[in-house]
Amino acid sequence: MIATSRFFWTAVAAASLVVCQHSDAAQTAKSEHSIDSSSSGPIRSLLQKPLQGGEAYVWYLVHCGYAIKTQTKLLIFDYVRTTRDSHERSPEQSLAAGRIDPSEIRDLDVYVFVSHSHEDHYDPVILDWQGQIRNLKYIFGWQATDDSSHIHLVGPRGSLKLDGMEIYTINCWSGVPEVAYLIKTDDLTIFFQGDYKSDSLTDIEYLRDKCAAVDMAFLGAHTQKWGDASARIIRIMQMLRPRMVFPMHYGGKEETYTLFAEECAQLGLPAVIKCPEKSGDLFHFR
Ligand SMILES: [Zn+2]
Repeated sequence: MIATSRFFWTAVAAASLVVCQHSDAAQTAKSEHSIDSSSSGPIRSLLQKPLQGGEAYVWYLVHCGYAIKTQTKLLIFDYVRTTRDSHERSPEQSLAAGRIDPSEIRDLDVYVFVSHSHEDHYDPVILDWQGQIRNLKYIFGWQATDDSSHIHLVGPRGSLKLDGMEIYTINCWSGVPEVAYLIKTDDLTIFFQGDYKSDSLTDIEYLRDKCAAVDMAFLGAHTQKWGDASARIIRIMQMLRPRMVFPMHYGGKEETYTLFAEECAQLGLPAVIKCPEKSGDLFHFR
């Protein structure tokens, strides 16, 4: 992404859609219109659409789950089907509903990232996708399986070059080992926090030194009532200065994302914050 890049939401007759413009101040993004699709056909054609480097489609799945279609890859993070507050609302198995149907993405190069083993981040259903997708790779932040075809970036500070992608992790411990990911691919730099929480700033400095800029950051939308958790997220935003932030970790309570964005705007944080309202919401980044 070049410094003058702007962000747009573009109407796509496949999924819910928000239109907003780049701003130097944090802001919320409200749906201007919403187009629901009951068919995965439009999603398939969207997934086949040529993208430029630095361009991506981003789907909000559930809770911390996001899927990012870049020029050459589909990246899936912390996919789960349900969480405590987020229950299955639609039988539709499609990105349009925030669900992964392996047949919908079978022709893509798919990379599945899991930050840690807590059930709101890791749903073993992802292992059922093996054999159903042309090129499927798993990148776990801990020793999740004994399968030698899976990548386990146990760390500390794991790193990997994989199919033109650079992956870096930082680690923390909350009863189980956890990572956050920094990923560089297709002219995009992506930070995915998972539940990474540490008061040490050296990890974030380490990641900052790995990239010129962060295009997209996926961050827990902890509002100020959560005290330290909020302060940590704000510090990460101040240090990484992501151009666009996708809030997460409040599946079923998506209104929290708007509150989080409002607080960031009050603090003058320099990022555009996209606020999904429901599973399957689609964002076009370029
Ligand atoms: Zn969590």
